Order: sequence, then structure tokens, then C-alpha cells
Amino acid sequence: MKFGRLVFDSFRKKEKGLVHLLSHAHRDHTNGLTNNWSEAPILCTEITTKVIRAQYPGIPEALFISKQPGDLVELDAIEIQIAEANHCPGSVMFSCRSHRNQRKIVFTGDFRMNASIRENIDLLKNAEVMYLDCTFNQPVFRFPSQKQAITEVIKLIEQNADRKIHLGVYSIGKNKLIQAISEYFQTSVYTPPNLYKIFDVIGMRKFVTMEQDAWIHSYPGQYFGTRHQKSGEIVRISPTGWACRFRSQPEKNRYYVPYSEHDDYKTLHEFVQLTKPKEIVPICGTWTLPVSQVGRERKKPYQSTFL
Ligand SMILES: [Zn+2]
Repeated sequence: MKFGRLVFDSFRKKEKGLVHLLSHAHRDHTNGLTNNWSEAPILCTEITTKVIRAQYPGIPEALFISKQPGDLVELDAIEIQIAEANHCPGSVMFSCRSHRNQRKIVFTGDFRMNASIRENIDLLKNAEVMYLDCTFNQPVFRFPSQKQAITEVIKLIEQNADRKIHLGVYSIGKNKLIQAISEYFQTSVYTPPNLYKIFDVIGMRKFVTMEQDAWIHSYPGQYFGTRHQKSGEIVRISPTGWACRFRSQPEKNRYYVPYSEHDDYKTLHEFVQLTKPKEIVPICGTWTLPVSQVGRERKKPYQSTFL
């Protein structure tokens, strides 16, 4: 997506004069970025700068324009308002207005609505085009609060206190869950070295360890699809929005908990009702409903087995 000289969450276009806005450090939002990147500046938060520099130490620090939620930046006659996204650490949304033609667009990146986003919702209202995180835009996706999901994960760990626990996480994200588990059980959670490095740069090192004999381990999601499929001694828990599509299998020590850092179907539609964009373009997932119809669709969404 491009707006004037601004490019959002993509590094495939390598032209001088562009500024790349990066909503957060997940790999599906950094397509085209390499350790040799030197083409154009990258505007993101200080935390995202730290995470990207930990992953790509070859990118010169001087290329980063580090900002915070609440900051207002002016670039290429476009006013850019940086807004909180409540996704992974460092994540933000961008609300941009062109001084040339007063056109306003909003790029949400990935997000989960919280009290702070609701308080600052005016920043995101009445865009001509909203580029929207539609990852879980299907009625099957209904999430409890993150607090409830964390309680559910802690309960599962308590019920399996005599076994090794493996949690599915991302390279960055699910940090609140790891922190809550570490504090509740007064133990450090094992992470592989590449994840440990990320926890270190975002100031959360005290909750994790690289000691293999830790009771609770965390691994990137793909680990669960490949290794230790049949191990009965390990209890595997996937805290993810995708949990709504799977059923836990206690007989196989396999559990899914809908802990999500995205909006579910209902809250996403509420967000659209509150912000009233003229047009929606999905960043990921799909969106087919005319904005005028939002809130009038079938009232009773599919009942998740988790609620
Ligand atoms: Zn993300």
C-alpha cells in the first residue's frame, strides 16, 4: 500500500525518496526487508526499531525514524498520527491526512481494540480508505478477554504440574502471557536463543531463560506442526485466535486456548461502526460487507465452544 511517498508494511519497492512505515515487527509485515536494507528510511516505534535491529543488525540505525503512539509526524505534506494498536510490543496504527487534497487514510496494521484505542478513536474516524486487519473476520472467531485466556492457560498448566509444558508463541508477541505465567508460577520460561534475544531487547529478560531444564518452554508456532507430535510426556498448549477452529484433545495432551492479539469478528465490526471508513481494504483476511451494513448482519454469531 502506498500513499504519496509513504509505503506501509512492505519493503519490496526499492526507490529512493520513499519512506517505509512499519506497523510492527512480525515477519508477514516486513516482506522484502533484508540485512542489507539501505534504500529508504523506516518509520516505526522505538521498540520495533530495537526488534528489527536485533533481527537485521546490518541495517544502519540512522535509517530509523523512531516514534511513539501519540506522536504526530509531517512527511511529504502528509500528517501522520501514530496510534496504539495493542497487538505485539511496539505495534501501532497510522492515520494519515494529505495536505495536498485533504484525503485521509488509516492503516491499522494488526490490532486488538482496548480501552486506550476506544478513548482515542477520533484519530481513526472517517477515513476515505481504511486498510484493515481482517485476520479473524469470520463469526467462528469469538475471543474471551486476554485476561480470561491467560487464566485458562494458567489453569491448564496447574492441572498438568507434573509434566513439561510447551507453549506456542511468535517471534514477538504473546509476551503478556509469558510474563503472567512467569509471575504466577515464579519461574522463568524457556525460549530458544532467537526468541530470548527479542525478550532481551524489549526489556523482558527476567521472565525467560535459555536453560533447557526449565519446566515451561515456549516455541514459535511452527514447532508444534513438526516435532514432538507423539510425545505423551509433554503437554502442548497453543494460545492463539485460531484455537476457535480446533478442539483440544486432552487424551493427547494437546490444548488450544483462544488467546489473541487481534480483534475477533464481533469487536472488529464494532471498530468499523465506530470509525466509519468510506471504504475498507483488508490487509490480511477478507472483508466483503458494505460499511453501511455493518451492525445489521445476522445478530447471533456462531457459538464458539470456548465461551
Ligand atoms: Zn502481527
